[in-house]
Amino acid sequence: MSGIYIHIPFCNQACHYCNFHFSTSLNNKDAFLVALTKEISLRSSYLDDEPVSTIYFGGGTPSLLAASEIDHIIDELSRFHNIEPKAEITLEANPEDINKKGYLSDLAASKVNRLSIGVQSFCDEDLRFMNRIHDGEEAGLALRNSLEAGFENLSVDLIYGTPTLSDAQWADNIEKVISLGIPHISMYCLTVEPKTPLFDQIKKGKVQDVDDERANGHFQIAAKQLENNKYVHYEISNFCKEGFMAAHNSNYWKGKDYLGLGPSAHSYNQHSRSWNAANNNEYIAKLNAGELPLTQEDLSVADQYNDYVMLSLRTIWGLSLEYVLESFGDEFVTHCKQEMLPHISSGRIVISDAAYTLTGQGKLFADQIAADLFIVE
Ligand code: SF4
Repeated sequence: MSGIYIHIPFCNQACHYCNFHFSTSLNNKDAFLVALTKEISLRSSYLDDEPVSTIYFGGGTPSLLAASEIDHIIDELSRFHNIEPKAEITLEANPEDINKKGYLSDLAASKVNRLSIGVQSFCDEDLRFMNRIHDGEEAGLALRNSLEAGFENLSVDLIYGTPTLSDAQWADNIEKVISLGIPHISMYCLTVEPKTPLFDQIKKGKVQDVDDERANGHFQIAAKQLENNKYVHYEISNFCKEGFMAAHNSNYWKGKDYLGLGPSAHSYNQHSRSWNAANNNEYIAKLNAGELPLTQEDLSVADQYNDYVMLSLRTIWGLSLEYVLESFGDEFVTHCKQEMLPHISSGRIVISDAAYTLTGQGKLFADQIAADLFIVE
């Protein structure tokens, strides 16, 4: 079982916090689609004929593509891969695109069967701080319209920890998503990445910096609200109603193979990681010349173990010592057990069903705990 990720590298406007790869000029869109078709063919053997259970259009803003362009990409993928009949096919979409006349009905008639909508917040001041295009009302409308169009498998992205969002407003954001009956929520803490407008604004003292305590508070408010409403907290940033786990991202967290296509996209196959140039012109020029815009890194056993630790600890399935023993050997088990001890004593890790999982408190320190368990070569 494997997945395919397609990066659509265009956005209408740059959100101030964003460090993903995108261009706000759509001039290259047609040339990109031609190059993508070439890449699909050149990389067709990467998954070794494994069945493909998920396709994910991320970005950038995939909803800048017409439904017919998305279906065309899926048809091209089907020429080279064994796509399962019930494959989860997700499109990331922004509210302003969803609300465009006719777009949702076109999507509903396409092969896309899951939407992940970039709401981020329902508070207008907060959305202006992030430099999002939509306002809170448009966000609510996009969700209601998507449900009405028949997209039951619907996910919402929210951002917490912004200085413009009070605890009460954050709780309201979560409440809106719950009351609309949205079955999947991904929530991300605002992080200040270098080379973003937000980074510069904070450096110049124009806006307030992100406060960790405030962000941790938001995380706890949401976790409680969502768990009280029967959402399963199945990965640190992800909650869902029963039966609505994101299959594509779950495959990442379980270490399954995936092929990434499009500028900046990453691929992984247990033994190596590879990534495309994060530059639209370079991506197009190389593929036009019949070359792949690719860099590859082989993974050592320690790299593979570190990846497993980092991903498994974030999930409800946890870290299995049996898996560590089978996949990496004795030495890794001894190291892992030893480094785990202080976190078990401090109540940040518990053992259940032969797997080690983070407690509510531990989830606030997930990266730090994983780093303690890493093996540094
Ligand atoms: S957050 Fe999404 S919509 Fe905003 S700039 Fe980044 S990729 Fe584009």
